[in-house]
Amino acid sequence: MAIETPDTPVATDYEVVIGLEVHSQLLTRSKMFCSCATDYANAAPNTHVCPVCMGMPGVLPVINQEAVAYTIMTALALNCTIPEYSKFDRKNYPYPDLMKGYQISQYDIPLSKDGYLTIEYDGQTRRIGITRVHLEEDTARLLHHGSYSLIDVNRSGTPLMEIVSEPDMRSPEEARLYMQKLREILVYLGVSSGRMEEGSLRCDANISVRPRGQQQLGVKTEIKNMNSFRAVERALAYEAQRQIEMLRTGQPIHQETRGWVETRGITVPQRSKEQAHDYRYFPEPDLPPLVISRAWVKELFEKLPELPDARRARYMEEYGLSTQDANVLTEDKALGDYFEQVVSAFPTSDRKARAKAASNLVINEVMRLLKAHSISIEHSLLKPAAVANLLDLLDQERITGKQSKDVLDEAFASGKLPEVIVKEKGIAPPISDKGELERIIEEVIANNPRAANDYRSGKTNAIQSLIGQVMKQTRGQAKADIVRPLLQSKLDETPSA
Ligand SMILES: [Zn+2]
Repeated sequence: MAIETPDTPVATDYEVVIGLEVHSQLLTRSKMFCSCATDYANAAPNTHVCPVCMGMPGVLPVINQEAVAYTIMTALALNCTIPEYSKFDRKNYPYPDLMKGYQISQYDIPLSKDGYLTIEYDGQTRRIGITRVHLEEDTARLLHHGSYSLIDVNRSGTPLMEIVSEPDMRSPEEARLYMQKLREILVYLGVSSGRMEEGSLRCDANISVRPRGQQQLGVKTEIKNMNSFRAVERALAYEAQRQIEMLRTGQPIHQETRGWVETRGITVPQRSKEQAHDYRYFPEPDLPPLVISRAWVKELFEKLPELPDARRARYMEEYGLSTQDANVLTEDKALGDYFEQVVSAFPTSDRKARAKAASNLVINEVMRLLKAHSISIEHSLLKPAAVANLLDLLDQERITGKQSKDVLDEAFASGKLPEVIVKEKGIAPPISDKGELERIIEEVIANNPRAANDYRSGKTNAIQSLIGQVMKQTRGQAKADIVRPLLQSKLDETPSA
């Protein structure tokens, strides 16, 4: 079927219904049920393994308390209820990457339920329901080589948190916004690396369409293999359009799992969708049920860091930043932390004005340099103290805005403090002494009679070359906004040569 996506708008006579299942590996040091380290990213295959995560018979799993804590923290940040009792269950399915032949997951009594998160869409705040946040273990990895496959067990048993949303999203764009917001929260909490491209954060989507106004949900498909925000939006736009075309032409939609093929921009059938009973869930007999004390939940709640929405609101309130600037600075936690370190180096007087100046410098200049050099803010040589120092120099008019750009470039490259660079390069403070400037201007007019006469006879552009001469004489240390009016009045009051 030739369907153009994602530019094709979803037809308005049908409504799209989307729910997301997001899996995130947790940033614990050890695996979910054994003491193997989880830092296998750059390790040789099958080096982070033990009898437990290899699924040997007769071994006993032990629950990783930190993984449970991270899951509860996430659930609390997503406004979920935490039950006093929870348990793990076996989810049985045969697949070569599942070492035990079953996965330890959670079925009917997950660690949390009934939460929500909010997104801003189309100028409105939309609340997306969270069905549950539960805990399970990741599988091994299969590496396919033509006619055979190899298995790497390093990933097996890595703590994997699953966040299931309600089918509350009504467009592919909303699904992307939800995913972005969720990622922000996970990264702020410090429980996830948030790296979709590496597969440590993954997203499956359930999507169906129905004629607008119909209450009953249509038959849904599940889409897998989307490893970027853009892929989520594109895959869902394609799938929505495909389903609408099927309904329009009277063809049945099959409940199935489909894979997103990034290179072709389409979804393709993978397998028919399992029902819960296919997994023969039963309580995991090797693990005790979890009794979750209220005191512990309270302790975890009190430990929650400031979350992106709260930080955004604070930046607007405390620093007087615009919504847009506050959004940019809070999207990436590290960037917000950096900005705050710049701000905290300020004297307390006129905090808002300085915060605004810092925000402009970080958003316009620092981010531009980071992008141009493909460096993350955490790895930049330019420290917050250097940015604060540059703002000080500008404030004290020891350098001009133009000079500050060169100084910043140098500070970015070398990590030196701007005041050191200014001293080393002999950058002089701008000339704002009017008497000194007037003397230079008179000299320039006297030495450039033709340009002066051109200006007086109405060729106003001729003033540019005179300004250029003044800047040259002052070695760029005069402020252009002072030079121009001074030059104009001098030209007007001196007669033609
Ligand atoms: Zn292990």
